[in-house]
Amino acid sequence: MLKVNIVYIGLGSNLNQPIEQIKRALQTLQIISDSILKQQSSLYQTAPLGSQNQPDYINAVAMLVTKLNPLDLLDELQKIELQHGRVRTQEKWEARSLDLDILLYNNDLMQHPQLILPHPGLYLRSFVLIPLYECNPNLILPNGKTIFELTQVCSSKGIKKILTL
Ligand code: ADP
Ligand code: MG
Repeated sequence: MLKVNIVYIGLGSNLNQPIEQIKRALQTLQIISDSILKQQSSLYQTAPLGSQNQPDYINAVAMLVTKLNPLDLLDELQKIELQHGRVRTQEKWEARSLDLDILLYNNDLMQHPQLILPHPGLYLRSFVLIPLYECNPNLILPNGKTIFELTQVCSSKGIKKILTL
């Protein structure tokens, strides 16, 4: 029997009606094969990283249990990004209709050309830490810190809870 894994997914959108994109993506996460959506955070509005010359983001975090391995899960998430009309360019932090990142896969560490775990931005990004805390306030991260500690030191400037589904 395949092991059940606990994963946290970061969702982000700042193009083409971002609130609708995130709502729809959360619905699609419910039907990924061999997986169950267990928790979802509220939706947050956040100022963009990178070029400030782009609309605010809508961010959220979802918790899934899955039997998929990390790379198969990434594949599923990238298929969903494409269904949402995402166009990939070389530019980092560009405006996008939907970004789905694997933040955590159990407490696994991974350095693969396609997948870094935990997600490299996890410990630094308030727009990830704040909704992650909402999904699981007792979470302990792979570096041994608690999500509570991390939310205490991150800045919540520019991050606004806008909708709880
Ligand atoms: P970003 O999310 O950093 O703005 P992209 O969404 O364009 O960048 O992703 C670029 C690549 O990052 C993806 O093709 C994927 O292979 C890789 N990647 C590495 N680690 C992760 C992760 N933990 N979750 C999602 N994608 C990842
Ligand atoms: Mg991404």
